[in-house]
Amino acid sequence: MYYQSTRSDEKVLSTNAVLNGIASDGGLYVNPDIAKISFDWKNALKLRTIDMAASILKTLLPDFENMDALVEAAYKGKFETDELTPLVKAGDDYILELFRGPTSAFKDVALSMLPQLITGAKKQTGLKDKIVILTATSGDTGKAALEGFHDVDGVSIIVFYPYGGVSEVQKAQMVTQEGANVKVCAVRGNFDDCQRGVKKAFSDLTERLKNNGVVLSSANSINIGRLAPQVTYYFTAYRDLVNSGRINVGDIVNYVVPTGNFGDILAGYYAKMLGLPVGRLVCASNINNVLTDFINTGVYDKNRPFHKTQSPSMDILVSSNLERLLFMASGNSTEKVRAWMKDLSGKGVFSVDKDTLSSIQDTFCSWYCDKEQTEKEIKKYLDERHYLIDPHTAVGCYVAEKFKEYVNEKAKLCEESELNNNTGALCGNSGKCGNICGTAEKAADCGKCAKTDFKALKDAPCVILSTASPYKFPTAILNALGKTPDADEFAQMRQIKELTGVPIPKNLDSLKGKEVLHKDVIDFAELEDYILKNI
Ligand SMILES: *Cc1c(COP(=O)(O)O)cnc(C)c1O
Repeated sequence: MYYQSTRSDEKVLSTNAVLNGIASDGGLYVNPDIAKISFDWKNALKLRTIDMAASILKTLLPDFENMDALVEAAYKGKFETDELTPLVKAGDDYILELFRGPTSAFKDVALSMLPQLITGAKKQTGLKDKIVILTATSGDTGKAALEGFHDVDGVSIIVFYPYGGVSEVQKAQMVTQEGANVKVCAVRGNFDDCQRGVKKAFSDLTERLKNNGVVLSSANSINIGRLAPQVTYYFTAYRDLVNSGRINVGDIVNYVVPTGNFGDILAGYYAKMLGLPVGRLVCASNINNVLTDFINTGVYDKNRPFHKTQSPSMDILVSSNLERLLFMASGNSTEKVRAWMKDLSGKGVFSVDKDTLSSIQDTFCSWYCDKEQTEKEIKKYLDERHYLIDPHTAVGCYVAEKFKEYVNEKAKLCEESELNNNTGALCGNSGKCGNICGTAEKAADCGKCAKTDFKALKDAPCVILSTASPYKFPTAILNALGKTPDADEFAQMRQIKELTGVPIPKNLDSLKGKEVLHKDVIDFAELEDYILKNI
């Protein structure tokens, strides 16, 4: 099994895909046959999380030796619980707590694993060069990557974050990072600038550095070694729903995912490819809602204002991993992907054909949530469901309600049309419900267009992926709860603790008073020089 670029037929083993990070033509590595992989997913549901992760990773990244040992080294004792990602019921919905790792963001699930994969691949391929990890961060990846890579032999890491674009807690997490092999630098610009700069550095510097014994790699979700570990928690949530009696094996489940770079939600699509019965993957955006528009219309247009929101890790207008979905949804067409990506970098906009869009809409749907709705959702969850959510998760919770309203309405229309003999011509609902009986055809033809079973979607549980601890965004939480935030974010954490009784994660509580070790600030144009100077 080979990985290939989304933009050409460049092929590599999974170990090299992880080491390289990005294909030499600027494309992302994908497994072109992922839909055909045979994976005993029902058996995987019987495993505890760490073993499940190993079995999934062996399937997705088959060239790694000793995957069991790598997984064990990545996770054992690093999370608050051995199950890594607990599923909690809140109201009628389920919150998948992905923030119980060492830096309190969901990125820990993948970034605890990635250093193991990179050092494993390095050993296996006999690579002697020094590896330099370049990372652009919207706030959470940076710290999770630093935590994973600091003091790892033969690897060093440089993190770029948008100056003024992350929360005070997020910044403190990064600039206090110890380790001889780490560099943290602010870039005047937004996350998209950081990401563009890093991608450009890859294409400009890779060859030149190789001759000097340095290999560049990435800890961003453009690296397949970032995505693969995230597939596991879609399965653990499903397993936990089965074990609690909420569903039977084989029933569908909907997942709502607060989305930025489209990595987290794409892992859900991979889970589906491996057999997991996924109903809908609901993409939740903040007002940087380029993905919502795309999923609903097929037009991706980044020419719009960039908004700084209370969910900064989702303030992204160029979602890298969408390229991987486009590859699959277009029937593995590197030609189409190349053309779309050319349009995106040239004009800032591309539009996909009808078949590609329809393939995307078979699994994905999307809504967005603005500032006011985010705040309301945080307060509502605490008041009504006694559960404190962070602003990213709040975007997901709001969108989950939108999704449920939508499927309820559709299911009702479908039910009405069934009461009317299920005959498209007679039901009187022709067209209204979208799919079932959507055309005024003979009764015999009616079932043919029943592409979507809205009743099943309505009855399926909604799992909302909770991507960060609320304590990473204390100002936003206090504003949402109608309290005046204290001057600094550490005092604010105490305020929230007193209000809610929710414990402050240890890694955040211990930040205050730590020495600031990284003070560099640069312009976008200086990024490559900075890299060269620091390796
Ligand atoms: C990174 C991040 C997201 C977005 O995830 P993507 O994989 O980039 O879509 C959402 N919430 C939080 C808290 C994050 O750190």
